[in-house]
Amino acid sequence: MSQFSQHSFANEKALIRVDFNVPLNDKYAITDDTRIRAAIPTVKKVLKDGGSVILMSHLGRPKDGPTEKYSLKHLLPHLKQLLGTEVAFATDCIGEPATSAAAALKPGQVLLLENLRFHKEEEKGDKAFAEKLAKLGDIYVNDAFGTAHRAHASTAIIAQFFPKDKRMFGLLMEAEVNSAEKVLHQSQKPFTAIIGGAKVSDKILIIENLMERATDIIIGGGMAYTFLKALGGRIGNSLCENDRLDTARELCDKAEKKGVRIHLPADSIIADKFAADASDSSAPSNNIPDGWMGLDIGENACEQFTNIIHRSKTILWNGPMGVFEMEKFQRGTRGIARAVAEATQKGAYSLVGGGDSVAAVNQFGYADKVSYVSTGGGALLEYFEGKELPGIAAVKA
Ligand code: AMP
Repeated sequence: MSQFSQHSFANEKALIRVDFNVPLNDKYAITDDTRIRAAIPTVKKVLKDGGSVILMSHLGRPKDGPTEKYSLKHLLPHLKQLLGTEVAFATDCIGEPATSAAAALKPGQVLLLENLRFHKEEEKGDKAFAEKLAKLGDIYVNDAFGTAHRAHASTAIIAQFFPKDKRMFGLLMEAEVNSAEKVLHQSQKPFTAIIGGAKVSDKILIIENLMERATDIIIGGGMAYTFLKALGGRIGNSLCENDRLDTARELCDKAEKKGVRIHLPADSIIADKFAADASDSSAPSNNIPDGWMGLDIGENACEQFTNIIHRSKTILWNGPMGVFEMEKFQRGTRGIARAVAEATQKGAYSLVGGGDSVAAVNQFGYADKVSYVSTGGGALLEYFEGKELPGIAAVKA
């Protein structure tokens, strides 16, 4: 049992850092509430114990202090509905509005603080600001995996103001860390990492670190074409980072030395322009005609990747196999989502993380058919790059 589950919060004010950085439309309605829903079990456990809850989060990237667009008050109606209880609101996360609202909290009550980033001290990791926040609660709970890679006041610096038994992860953070640990440090072999998306430059470190652990690395999406060109292929007008050709070659050499198999798509669905109504055809990925670009993995590649995924015991998936936002180029990503779900059903452990692959498993209906869908984009990537996340280190210290 975890520290959080074992702790009784009776008569305590739990100061919980959540990641309520949700997308809002121009009428301030939430268009995807995944991150809020993910934090609800942690809040409910504290309330059930007879404690009270002070929620703090950032929303967006406000540059100049308080801005209507980034106010957390827009989240109140939905939060009340999800929790089934009233939620009080403090118009500032520190100072009189916060201290008096926090002081008035009774067991079973919830308070939401205004956007932490309305104070520039938050992102600067300012110690005095963190101390002011810390004074609001008796115990600190970090449940914001999505911001765990930032050394901000509320995610990392604040932890030092609580003794070791009064600072802990919430249920979401625990689940995220356990799942990432399972893949990174307790993986059963064969371990296949599926890396896709647009840019090689974003994924170099993660590929390098995964080489120490994975048996197979599948590379799809736009980034595959930089590798294909580096290995001598003709890639037409496909996405390519010409300044990363050497890096791609080095990664392939390193993999070979380590006995890690890198798999590139044998064929591609090609298009004559980057558009939903483009003409499409298929071609070997290393022989794409000029004027055409690879926008999805082809049928053979999908089969090739599916076979590798099916014989895997551990699977990590980050990044789509093609431009899945366009119907014509989503077959590969959908096929890989299905393969990961099928492998999971046969007993593999699968973790899907990073914005676009999460959007894909949701869109194609496979989110509940994989072992874990991470809420962390950048945080998960940094974790798999082998970096220590400040938000995790501070609580563990
Ligand atoms: P990333 O943020 O690096 O994970 O990249 C995700 C984006 O990569 C998505 O918006 C995809 O549409 C895009 N993408 C995937 N495959 C390709 C491709 N073959 N060519 C251009 N863009 C791609």
